[in-house]
Amino acid sequence: NILAGNGSDEILSIILRCFVGRGDRVAFPVPTYSLYETLVKVQDGELVCVNYPADFAIPPELHSANAAVTFLCNPNSPSGTLVSLTEIERLARAVAGVLVVDEAYIDFAEDPGSSAICLTQSIPNLIVLRTFSKSFSLAGLRIGLAFARAELIAGMMKVKDSYNLNRLSLVAATAALHDLP
Ligand SMILES: *Cc1c(COP(=O)(O)O)cnc(C)c1O
Repeated sequence: NILAGNGSDEILSIILRCFVGRGDRVAFPVPTYSLYETLVKVQDGELVCVNYPADFAIPPELHSANAAVTFLCNPNSPSGTLVSLTEIERLARAVAGVLVVDEAYIDFAEDPGSSAICLTQSIPNLIVLRTFSKSFSLAGLRIGLAFARAELIAGMMKVKDSYNLNRLSLVAATAALHDLP
């Protein structure tokens, strides 16, 4: 159920190569993390950028965008806004393809229970991303994690480099996890 990547940026790239072919739609609300757009262009996918409303709630059009991949950065960068697990579940059940919830900043959210990892077993098209780069201050070590049902992880494993992580990063990330309060 877990894939470790050379930073969550590598996992984002794996997701695009795994699920998006030429002309496939990739949707996300904007403004958000700028790498999504770059990766869609590299893959020759079709960008579907939906503007956030003033309160940064999930835009209704995102549910029906008919996208192979939908990204939701939660909490969102640059707005710092958080959407609830109920809204994430509703979005995941509505989208055509996979929903990727990028939780790079979740450790800074006020409610520690706001992570969508707990939904990944019951929602078959949901991938949740975490990184050691922000709350653990380990950006230079390049380590991120993807959580999803085993079938999704197995597909992503086929696309990743055979030896995508170095041993020092693995040791440091394991130590960091044991250091959680
Ligand atoms: C920093 C960041 C990433 C990438 O983090 P790495 O694990 O260092 O690759 C992914 N998504 C968001 C929203 C980020 O801010």
